[in-house]
Amino acid sequence: MPERSDSDSRKLLRRLRDVLGAQSKGQERLDQITHLIADSMLTEVCSIYLFRDPETLELCATEGLKPEAVHQTRMKLGEGLVGRVARSNTPVNTADAPSEKGFRYMPETGEEIYSSFLGVPIQRVGEKLGVLVVQSKTARQFSDDEIYALEVVAMVLAEMTELGAFTSDDDGMRALHRQPVMFHGATGQEGAAEGHVWLHEPRVVVTNPVADDPLTEIDRIREAVGQLRVSVDDLLSLQSLDKDQKQVLEAYRMFANSRGWLRRMEEDIQSGLSAEAAVEKEQSAARARLETVPDAYLRERLHDLDDLSNRLLRILTGQGADTGAAMPENPVLVARNIGPAELLEYGRKLRGVVLEDGSVGSHAAIVARALAIPLVIHARRVTSEALNGDHILVDGDQGIAHLRPEETVARAFRDKIAMQTQAQQRYASLRDLPALTRCGTTIALHMNAGLMADLPSLDGSGADGVGLFRTELQFLVRNKMPRRAELATLYARVMDAAKGKRVAFRTLDIGSDKVLPYMKPNDEPNPAMGWRAIRVGLDKPGVLRMQIQALLRATNGRPLTVMFPFVSEFSEFQHARAHVLREVHRERSLGHVVPDQLEIGAMLETPSLAFAPDAFFQLTDFVSIGGNDLKQFFFAADRENERVRRRYDMLNLSFLGFIEQIIARCAATGTPLSFCGEDAGRPVEALALAALGLRNLSMRPASIGPVKALLRRADLAQIRRVIDTARANGEDSARPTLMEFLSTLSD
Ligand code: PEP
Ligand code: MG
Repeated sequence: MPERSDSDSRKLLRRLRDVLGAQSKGQERLDQITHLIADSMLTEVCSIYLFRDPETLELCATEGLKPEAVHQTRMKLGEGLVGRVARSNTPVNTADAPSEKGFRYMPETGEEIYSSFLGVPIQRVGEKLGVLVVQSKTARQFSDDEIYALEVVAMVLAEMTELGAFTSDDDGMRALHRQPVMFHGATGQEGAAEGHVWLHEPRVVVTNPVADDPLTEIDRIREAVGQLRVSVDDLLSLQSLDKDQKQVLEAYRMFANSRGWLRRMEEDIQSGLSAEAAVEKEQSAARARLETVPDAYLRERLHDLDDLSNRLLRILTGQGADTGAAMPENPVLVARNIGPAELLEYGRKLRGVVLEDGSVGSHAAIVARALAIPLVIHARRVTSEALNGDHILVDGDQGIAHLRPEETVARAFRDKIAMQTQAQQRYASLRDLPALTRCGTTIALHMNAGLMADLPSLDGSGADGVGLFRTELQFLVRNKMPRRAELATLYARVMDAAKGKRVAFRTLDIGSDKVLPYMKPNDEPNPAMGWRAIRVGLDKPGVLRMQIQALLRATNGRPLTVMFPFVSEFSEFQHARAHVLREVHRERSLGHVVPDQLEIGAMLETPSLAFAPDAFFQLTDFVSIGGNDLKQFFFAADRENERVRRRYDMLNLSFLGFIEQIIARCAATGTPLSFCGEDAGRPVEALALAALGLRNLSMRPASIGPVKALLRRADLAQIRRVIDTARANGEDSARPTLMEFLSTLSD
């Protein structure tokens, strides 16, 4: 077989472009294309398989196989050689297809007579669209040049698919980005929302995959890469960069200056691709590699290359990040990932957020939680599938997003939202009533907050106060350390908005995984158990003292409640408390007013503190159980690890037994005790905590209604007996017995 030259390739691409330009239906175009490719590659067969749904490929056009098989032959991802190409995102090239591992005989196609097989993925920037196959009777391996040529063609097909070139309403083929897709991710923040997609980084649309004049295209790509290099250099020369940002930009610079990258793109252009399509071809190849690389560092670098390719595409197409498109009504933000500051900027405009990456403890999740926006994380490939304006349902409770849902799904989802709204209305009617149980015990229900914007919920939810004000956000969303005066102003506004209700300010819980953009990151193998929270505060007291000063200034004579996160032993509390007292003394000596009442408490988040000496319980003004951390350390189950985080139940009787011990220790010294982890906001868990003796719970504002409603129906002594029965029966968890009992409870 003669070697294919660049001009052969260019000729073929030009003919493909003509097909695209002609007024024909999607199926006709596909048929013409398979004919052209078989003709140009000198093979008897050329077939195009496209994804029918994310798991199923369908033969959509063929030259050489039986025409009856078109739209009949289907295979699952990974099934047969075609499925293998799609799954692995790499070519399969064999001289003897029937003997190849995984070969599947499809009698309807008549393909057994073809010995050689070459299949390449049709993909666009990591998005799998289908598989392009050529086959011939002669047993031979295809050359590297031929593989490359077919990959270039596949790239053009990918762009054409994206542009909807093969779609028409009457040929039974449904376009990509039009079908309903359900994403099974994980819960970042509970709640349900319906809205329209707003892509954080809109996709760049390439309308000209094929170019006539390689020299012009090479000039364009060189010029664009030149601009890219200058822009990276400009960024690098900024004074405000920290070490991390510098490192990323250095990696960008390395890629931008890489001769290999530019050379490969120039080769793609020589074969007939436009500059844009060449960038995407290399980007797709990098993405495909990214999926298989286990090394986290390398994956990061490949991400960098991906980012850089997007920048280059924007330079080439003139499509900036700001496309000028108007945000749709009820926007649902869809992104690979997003920083806390950017998310905060969108603020409460957003109905929901769906992320491809992210984690429960990520900064974005913290912000979403503070804004009470439903958040689904780990929605793989959502940014490739979603288009701006697409209809989307976000089910934060289940960790699911429905993109372009069928009407039946949307209707069921709306019913769910309506039920939740109805329930909220029911809860609203309880707002001004106390959380008074049937047995006459009142439980104080406080709310957790972290933003100024949370404070209106204090009135709306009927919370008795703020049981936990997380102060991290103000530190996380800035790119430099906030100043004392700024913090003092904010804290004062929080206190003003609380109108005399108690606000428990927790000092900075930062370090390890929650790294401040302007702080040197520590490479710790186990960040949750690392140098965090009060450990950082005591080792580097500058920030702790500054924060305490800001709080003291903010109170301006009013009462102040401060608590320290992650206290593990008595002496840590003593030292932290001494810092507060020293600052009070200092403020007084400077002539400033100091709080008329001062409460200094500790969060109990590590089991060790439950066994601290009596002196600790006597000294501290209160203890607040940080159940999220306490549970992870009690069960040794990482709260951010999806695999294990739901494995253990808070109603596990060993854990409840431990909580009882803490209650007993606090009772012995008369130390006020509260619980402020997420579990306090789950009605059944809250009920169990109250039955064990907790009288103060702090939770998300939205949970106050449901928790109050259940507490008001219950008799705590009865619940206590149910828990004791479960324990006596040797159960692991009190949940089944408790749920059974609750199902008999009258309204
Ligand atoms: C906790 O650990 O329960 C807690 C309230 O603190 P955070 O979730 O901020 O770690
Ligand atoms: Mg905690």
